[in-house]
Amino acid sequence: MKTVTDGLVIKEMSIGEADKLITILTKDDGIVKAYASGVKSIKSKRSVGTTLLSYSNFSFSQKGNNLRVSEATPIKHFFSVDSDIEAFAISQYFCELCAVFEPHEKASSEFLRLILNSLHFLNEKSKSPFLIKAITELRIAAISGYCPNLVACEACGAYESDVMYFNYRDGSVFCKDCNKDGENIPLGITLLKAMRHIVYSPFERLYSFSVPDEAARALSKITERYITYQTERNFKTLEFLHTIYPENG
Ligand SMILES: [Zn+2]
Repeated sequence: MKTVTDGLVIKEMSIGEADKLITILTKDDGIVKAYASGVKSIKSKRSVGTTLLSYSNFSFSQKGNNLRVSEATPIKHFFSVDSDIEAFAISQYFCELCAVFEPHEKASSEFLRLILNSLHFLNEKSKSPFLIKAITELRIAAISGYCPNLVACEACGAYESDVMYFNYRDGSVFCKDCNKDGENIPLGITLLKAMRHIVYSPFERLYSFSVPDEAARALSKITERYITYQTERNFKTLEFLHTIYPENG
């Protein structure tokens, strides 16, 4: 792996009084774990750059089997728990998604770009946090081998009907004439279009759409269901998020 790379701290664990083991989503090398010694002291030059949700330029050194952070120059820091609890909770969920999907070297930069942009828009507050959550969930699925097939009805090939039905178990859609499964989730045109946009648009246009707040919340429920079903996971950070947004649980 490279000894110098940019990356986002997605997890931190205290070790003793002064040290930490941090997990970093890097640009080139997937997920990397590295020891950062002395960083809990405010005097440490690496203290800010090794904090959770810091996007930093890292230099590593190998010591035996362990990787150590020799330098961490912060480029940008996103949210702390004191500043905005909702944004912090969603960003922590994004971190857990990274750890669960664990992008390998090749997918690393695409993954990082997605998370950094989502954190940026979450920070900017120009869009519904539910929309950003849905975009992140569905796009992560799409780039990680869990891409749903939203092009047309799985049975007859119809492109649209007033309502389509999403099978969150295998990622297919059905038109209203072909849908036979009561568990499939109804999608009005707005939700279907939003999901297609998230999955198929080029990255440059990924965030350039909006939906009414109510649709954003509905979309977020659907993408969350898809992610949790596909990964067979109970995300701890989602449980926390649901305590803040119980209406979205
Ligand atoms: Zn059909």
